[in-house]
Amino acid sequence: MLHTTSTAPAIAADQLVKRYGDFTAVDGITFQVAGGEAFGLLGPNGAGKSTTMRMIAAVASRTSGTMEVAGLDPQQEGPRVRARLGVIPQQDNLDEELTVRENIIMYGRFFGLPRKHLASKADELLEFAQLTHKAESRVEDLSGGMKRRLTIARALVNDPDILLLDEPTTGLDPQARHVLWDRLFRLKETGTTLVLTTHHMEEAEQLCERLIVVDHGRIMAEGSPKGLIREHSTREVLELRFGMDRNPQIAAELEPVLVAADIGHRHIEVLPDRLLVYAADAESALERIHSTGHRPVTSLVRRSSLEDVFLRLTGRTLID
Ligand code: ADP
Repeated sequence: MLHTTSTAPAIAADQLVKRYGDFTAVDGITFQVAGGEAFGLLGPNGAGKSTTMRMIAAVASRTSGTMEVAGLDPQQEGPRVRARLGVIPQQDNLDEELTVRENIIMYGRFFGLPRKHLASKADELLEFAQLTHKAESRVEDLSGGMKRRLTIARALVNDPDILLLDEPTTGLDPQARHVLWDRLFRLKETGTTLVLTTHHMEEAEQLCERLIVVDHGRIMAEGSPKGLIREHSTREVLELRFGMDRNPQIAAELEPVLVAADIGHRHIEVLPDRLLVYAADAESALERIHSTGHRPVTSLVRRSSLEDVFLRLTGRTLID
């Protein structure tokens, strides 16, 4: 499972378009993923992330544009491209009737891998997925997090160069999500190219070296999580709750106060349930607000995240 980072891109998409009838799901997106990179497509539901993944995985055709995966055009050389990929779909599609171990072995048989090789490969992958103790259990007896780990283990059976993960932790509880992130992080360390879609900004921050922010089939921004935050947000954010109907009025009152203060203030975002004050020094912003006599019901100082980047770029939150 050890791959070396090469200079040729693992994936190159240029002006990629996918239309379903009159509807444009992917609207001219261009990106490259380097070998060994962990790359993300971050955006809300319906942004066109899965459609893009399906075109990479050679299971959907494109309307126009060009695409290369491991130097091959998926549309022309589907089987060869698929042999280089490990694909983890949004919904686990494990064989519930089989044991955990048999799931890996059967999948390997589809690739024509010999049984002897698969026996030791299954052991290695079960250990990686922390499922050795469940090897002989039936899939239906596994927790959601274990099923996801098995789906990932199974996708690694042919030693793929590139792993495609569509919303890898959606539906998992926080603990199961963290275990999965740890496994994916290890894969990244071994040099496997990871391409994942997510609408979960913490996932993108944890796993992706570089990402594109996608909305309505278009790229809104591209960069590292840190770089995007630096470019599009302030260092800190102050979240204030005053009670629903008072937010717009209070925001208008606070704006001049914060502009006058030397706290690296950028702007105030008015959401239905809270105000977000963007400032380099959010603690000082809160002190200044208190000094004017305003008393928020709750206040929280936190670092800026990719959620703030998305909000800044689109005026909407990632999870509506
Ligand atoms: P995401 O993965 O970002 O949630 P998708 O790529 O699944 O977004 O979908 C993008 C848009 O394309 C959505 O509006 C979706 O309804 C539409 N779409 C996806 N697949 C099809 C299809 N087979 N036929 C028609 N519309 C589709």
